Amino acid sequence: MDVIPLVHASLGERELAAVKEVFASDWPAGQGPRGKALERELAEHFGVADAVALSSCAAALHLSLLALGAGPGDEVIVADFTFPAPAHAVRYVDAVPVFADVRADTGTIAPQAVADLVTPRTVGIIAVDTVGLPADYAELQEIADRHGLFLIEDAACAVGATYRGRPAGTLASVACLSFHGRKGITSGEGGALLTTDPALGGTVRLRSSFGIGSIADQAKVIGLPIPEFAEIGFNYKLSDIGAAILQVQLGRLGALLERRNAVAARYHELLKDEELITLPHVPADRTHAWQSYMVTLEPGVDRAAVAADLRAQGIGCGHGTWASHLQPAYKTDQTCPVSADLFRRSLAIPMHAELTPGQVERVAEALRAALRAHAGPER
Ligand SMILES: *Cc1c(COP(=O)(O)O)cnc(C)c1O
Repeated sequence: MDVIPLVHASLGERELAAVKEVFASDWPAGQGPRGKALERELAEHFGVADAVALSSCAAALHLSLLALGAGPGDEVIVADFTFPAPAHAVRYVDAVPVFADVRADTGTIAPQAVADLVTPRTVGIIAVDTVGLPADYAELQEIADRHGLFLIEDAACAVGATYRGRPAGTLASVACLSFHGRKGITSGEGGALLTTDPALGGTVRLRSSFGIGSIADQAKVIGLPIPEFAEIGFNYKLSDIGAAILQVQLGRLGALLERRNAVAARYHELLKDEELITLPHVPADRTHAWQSYMVTLEPGVDRAAVAADLRAQGIGCGHGTWASHLQPAYKTDQTCPVSADLFRRSLAIPMHAELTPGQVERVAEALRAALRAHAGPER
């Protein structure tokens, strides 16, 4: 049976060769020559003042909130329909995540929901580019400015996407990227913080390294200056091994994205007349990075049965993403009905840069058959 995985990281010989060079050097740890080169390349690629290479997007979100001064008792409004890393990060700093419902057509944070949730305790907003589709940044920035709030872009899934011609990762003054193995470009685990504010970048870099500067740099100084720990920082550095992999991946971004785009376009062609699902909607002013291809099943379709049929044929699939507010960890009595509904009806089907046209056709055919078989009693 030809197994078609839900996700697959496009890591190959060029990445291996880059890792080999790091092994031969004397610095595999973080903030070494590879990490610095990657930071320069990221800043240049995205056209931002500073880029900090980090161990994950979760680390980037945590350090963003610290740098922006969010703390105990503060409320931070977060997009609800997402991998719940933003709400987790709000809790890392003992602030309160306030869950904003999403647009039914895109799954991205609804600006009106955000506006309705602002209170005197609100300090900021974390918007999410949902599985690769940018949110409504013009409206969100306007709300943030009106109330004096910070706005963070969680672009974990959106490297390569655009909004009104601008790249995801630059749609707010602070943005967080993920290079986890399930994202568009990857080092296995990894992340970055991009910012238009060089002072904020410097603070984040220092805090990612225990609160002292680059040890690789200090080892090169003539004499013996002893660095001092100015504050209690974290170890959130990306290793130079990861950075070397990402330098190669960043160079391949355009080609990998083109392949994901081709898969999405083909799914659209093959499934657009299927009444039992709604396909992803991409508004005309933005483009998708297709971290996932998520369809929404009509009410009544038995999603678990559809998924079981696909998996029995070796076709990977999943529930897509989460309604954050429903996760037991947060113990909230808030409701986000649109997000909750999408959470129940979404299905992610295989999406990655290695899918062949034949595999895409097989997925579409198997999905159609499974939908017919489990359409529900009213059909
Ligand atoms: C994957 C993901 C994260 C977490 O990224 P890590 O690099 O694994 O920490 C954060 N936010 C969103 C929206 C994600 O999809």
